[in-house]
Amino acid sequence: MTIKQSFERLATETDTDIAIVGGGLSGTLAATILGHAGYRVTLIDRHRTVPEEFRVEKMSGGQIDTLQRLRLLGPVSAAAVAFDEVIHMRKGRMLDRTNDRQFGFLYNRLVSALRAALPANVNFVVGQVSGVQTGATRQRIAILGQDEMTARLLVLATGMGDILRRDLGISHRSVAEKRSFAFGFNLRPVGAKSLRHMALTYHGTSDGIDHMNLFPVPGGTRANLFVFRDPRDPWIKSLHENPKDTLAAIFPSLIETAGDFDIVGKVDSWLTDITIAENCRQDGVVLIGDAFQSSCPATGIGVSRLLTDVERLCTAYIPQWMAETAFDRAKIAAYYDDPQKQESDALALQLALHGRNLATNTDLRWRTRRQIHFMRRRAVHALEKLSPALATKLYRLAARYVKSPARSPA
Ligand SMILES: Cc1cc2nc3c(=O)[nH]c(=O)nc-3n(C[C@H](O)[C@H](O)[C@H](O)COP(=O)(O)OP(=O)(O)OC[C@H]3O[C@@H](n4cnc5c(N)ncnc54)[C@H](O)[C@@H]3O)c2cc1C
Repeated sequence: MTIKQSFERLATETDTDIAIVGGGLSGTLAATILGHAGYRVTLIDRHRTVPEEFRVEKMSGGQIDTLQRLRLLGPVSAAAVAFDEVIHMRKGRMLDRTNDRQFGFLYNRLVSALRAALPANVNFVVGQVSGVQTGATRQRIAILGQDEMTARLLVLATGMGDILRRDLGISHRSVAEKRSFAFGFNLRPVGAKSLRHMALTYHGTSDGIDHMNLFPVPGGTRANLFVFRDPRDPWIKSLHENPKDTLAAIFPSLIETAGDFDIVGKVDSWLTDITIAENCRQDGVVLIGDAFQSSCPATGIGVSRLLTDVERLCTAYIPQWMAETAFDRAKIAAYYDDPQKQESDALALQLALHGRNLATNTDLRWRTRRQIHFMRRRAVHALEKLSPALATKLYRLAARYVKSPARSPA
């Protein structure tokens, strides 16, 4: 029997080849790639309409390159606003300006657009998965109020804090509790049609304020603010109650540079715990995205880790596994041991620690690092005004250095 015949015979024994539980960004991207590769895929999510939850709202650099490589950039860019130039500010004055393609979007609309573009052989099921039983050859998935489903392989893309993982004895080791606050809100320009700059990033000093990004999204301008402060800090309350004045107090000259604005609608907030799944090397089941490891939003690389999971799993491991009859834990372990995955998981943790130190640590070592970091940026910017060609070379050199934790999060 050829591998193809063996695969076809086994495929008929289960309802689907691959069941993906969780139709957020990671599950939907994985379903798209696997569907295009010709597998019978079932994507299950408890929400038919993606709720307006606060998650990533901006992608750039390597994230865009990966989406392009995976041929997924089309639906992403269609649901986003593209922009290139970002003005950076610190301590009331301009730090520098960067030029790099970025996309601003609203998470629910982005995931909805990706779901709408799912290939025909991906079956989307709306339902709350209430239990799973796994094994090397067959996975059983219980969905509330619906028939049980069977699959050859189960992918858990259930994001953070899902009880399903308890069925499997998978626990979550907390690496950093209440690590950082992320805030998201909408800006409306006052007295003008738009803000003076399409995108602006304001960097904090050592007072626990990391940075704030203002950037375009479909229908308006969005702000993402990342801070490392105690949840009981009265400053957090004042940001919710009086956001504009609170921002003006910590970001001098913001309104003069960006133009006047109002903050409309509610201020979304998210307090991050960074966790890593443990005991996940099991027969027949794999974890991707936040279900495996959550990220500090301030680093801006949660999506890079998620994309590494999706790309390595769907293009390197699942094609090998599907040609065989069983997916025992030894095979599954190869995905968790993948050098690219391990590198991106470790980098996310390093950057989270580095970013927190850069924004909060006042000892001499970190004060010096902070000064050098921003002095270097100001120097390159000054040079750019004198010799744009030389500055471009320096930016390219810096881009090679991008994997170092010494990189700025923004
Ligand atoms: C506030 C915030 C800001 C961020 N900012 C950035 C940023 O600027 N840059 C960056 O790169 N990253 C950022 N991130 C990280 C990024 O948003 C996440 O890594 C990414 O959204 C995770 O996607 P996911 O698909 O793994 O999980 P989710 O998007 O959480 O999706 C999980 C899905 O599983 C479904 N589900 C769960 N349990 C069940 C069940 N039992 N049955 C059926 N369905 C189920 C849910 O309905 C949901 O749709 C940010 C994160 C947060 C929280």
